[in-house]
Amino acid sequence: MTRYYQKEIETASPEQIREWQNERLLKTLQHVWDNNKYYRKKMIDRGVLVGDVRSVDDLWKLPFLTKDDLREAYPYGLMSAPLSDCVRIQSTSGTTGKRVVAFYTQADVDLWEECCARAIVAAGGTKDDVVQVCYGYGLFTGGPGLNGGSHKVGCLTLPMSSGNTERQLQFMTDLEATILCCTPSYAAYLAESLYEKGMRDQIKLKAGIFGAEAWTEEMRHDIEEKLGIKAYDIYGLTELSGPGVSFECEEQSGMHINEDHFIVETIDPETGRVLPDGERGELVFTSITKQAFPLLRYRTKDIAVLSREKCSCGRTFVKMSKPMGRSDDMLIIKGVNVFPSQIETVLMNKGLTSNYQIVVDRLGTTDSIEVKVEMTPELFSDTINSIEVREREITDALKSMLGIYAKVSIVEPKSIVRSEGKAVRVIDKRKLYG
Ligand SMILES: [Zn+2]
Repeated sequence: MTRYYQKEIETASPEQIREWQNERLLKTLQHVWDNNKYYRKKMIDRGVLVGDVRSVDDLWKLPFLTKDDLREAYPYGLMSAPLSDCVRIQSTSGTTGKRVVAFYTQADVDLWEECCARAIVAAGGTKDDVVQVCYGYGLFTGGPGLNGGSHKVGCLTLPMSSGNTERQLQFMTDLEATILCCTPSYAAYLAESLYEKGMRDQIKLKAGIFGAEAWTEEMRHDIEEKLGIKAYDIYGLTELSGPGVSFECEEQSGMHINEDHFIVETIDPETGRVLPDGERGELVFTSITKQAFPLLRYRTKDIAVLSREKCSCGRTFVKMSKPMGRSDDMLIIKGVNVFPSQIETVLMNKGLTSNYQIVVDRLGTTDSIEVKVEMTPELFSDTINSIEVREREITDALKSMLGIYAKVSIVEPKSIVRSEGKAVRVIDKRKLYG
């Protein structure tokens, strides 16, 4: 039987959800108009006044917000509540340029944690579970978000943070963790380490909630098999609160978006035109319950598809597909759009590991792409000749998936650097030449 954290909300009728959205959108818009000069100016520049938006149907009239806006308005320019009402700051990991900071009132923190609690219950969590959170704590939202959600459900929470794999494994086995929360690449690494240490049969894990980076279905199956768990996806952005904007249910076919807190649209990333459900486009979110840092029409750069098909779990919130890539991550090689996730799919389908790296370079005016992937232990004992055969096979498979030639190198096990947070999948040397 399906369990819910907030049944009446999660299974509300579409009409009820629309009613909440209409009411909360107007309230949030008025709140932003009254308190946020930056966005009010954007609206005026676009010729839209607060009264021009009467329901969700008018959302398209509002201007978009982008990460550049958040950087420009750094640190306080997009706040809609006085700093004295705020209790928390979180920040993106931003490696380039200014970081993005987000502010929370206590009510904002509570709503965010409730969203994470819904995700934990959807993954089978109850107060009898032991939740091991190995997302980073601190400014990064992963740790604090799942930590708060776990408390709300009443689980025994292990606030491990990231890193220190020895200790992770020791606590996982000694304290009998049942739900693991971390990035999918770290889950894969933990699984690998468990096998190496001969500890695989000592774990009690039943589920994992993995997010904060792109991963494929193939990687999901691999982690599920190795750890003997069900692996659930979770999605979110610091700008919108953190993890828990959407989460997966037992059907594992897309993530339910918490529509009582967020209105979602998909747009054509080139033109900004709103697309119908079912068409692949960039996700745009409007937060409708936040006080300190509500964002209207925030462009995520994540490419996904929305589906309103009835879900067997009984939840009525719209589902989004796993992001197929970010317009940021999208590589343009020899004029062809390439997402790292496409390459990963080919590698996993060919029975290789998820330890890979994509190196893009340019010789003269010609782009080149090399995919380095670690061999599996079985391959390690093979002859050089048979490795060359495998490399050719993968080259062919990549060619038919991407439409371009990519050099494939099968490298020794452990030769690609492991990550304890987000994996570095792409090295684009072309950027060095400007
Ligand atoms: Zn569902």
